[in-house]
Amino acid sequence: MDYQKIFDDIWEEIRPFSEKGKQADYIPALAKVNPDQFGMCLQTVSGDVYPYRQADTRFSIQSISKVFALAMCLSLRGESLWKRIGKEPSGTAFNSLIQLEVEKGIPRNPFINAGAIVLSDILITELVRPEEEFLHFVRELCGTESIVYNDEVAHSEREHGFLNAAIANMLKSHGTIENDIEHVLMFYFKMCSVEMSCRELASAFMAFADRRPFNIDGYRLTNSQIKRMNAVMQTCGFYDEAGEFSYLVGLPGKSGVGGGIVAICPLKYSVAVWSPRLNSKGNSVMGMKALELLTTYTEESIF
Ligand code: GLU
Repeated sequence: MDYQKIFDDIWEEIRPFSEKGKQADYIPALAKVNPDQFGMCLQTVSGDVYPYRQADTRFSIQSISKVFALAMCLSLRGESLWKRIGKEPSGTAFNSLIQLEVEKGIPRNPFINAGAIVLSDILITELVRPEEEFLHFVRELCGTESIVYNDEVAHSEREHGFLNAAIANMLKSHGTIENDIEHVLMFYFKMCSVEMSCRELASAFMAFADRRPFNIDGYRLTNSQIKRMNAVMQTCGFYDEAGEFSYLVGLPGKSGVGGGIVAICPLKYSVAVWSPRLNSKGNSVMGMKALELLTTYTEESIF
């Protein structure tokens, strides 16, 4: 498949969307990012890599980090993880409080903020040095030592993260969080602040695309657990736009408010795309369009 040529065609088609949407500004440090950027990278299971435009520019992965946290927690806790967190699509915004209150502090799934705050709590309980160990896991997963947190973004989010603090307090009041709220929140914001490029994300997600048992840094996942992670990405990876993404693109994936989206085509490829301008649901406008065109032109999707 000539992915490079396909990327050229996609780029021509998505250019008219280049001024649609705006970057996340509820995290002041993210509001400073130049919105007029676009990168994409596809890696095949046989190891071929197709970078496009700003494939090597690092950006804030934000909620994409929730996939890495889930992989670690699933490896540590197995099926018992699901006593603390559900696995149903939320149909609500990523930072919604209403559902959490109605459902008595059990987050709908691990990919909304409430769910990932619980993952953060579990990692703090399980690990000796959670910040270092999480970063080490991500570095091992994509084979790049230089990946780091962006402390400015993490602290900027903490200063303005009133909704996430409300979510953490509600979780604590229902007994779903074991550790100190401040510690849990700060670790959650740190995980979100990791910066990676499209090339690095495509490489990291290969572990979910190639259906081989996974043993990264001592964290093991069976094929069956990887299948289940991909299922949760398919149904819950895009907040209240999971149905739309499934309909338009037809791949499991995860987005973040930094404008990144990663998706996988099992046994074929992983692909990451980045453009900071977001739609009203918090997903990258050009990123969604690019992936829709990718699966349309290649006729490669899971459906
Ligand atoms: N750190 C962001 C927040 O908690 C992550 C949201 C996202 O990327 O969707 O609001």
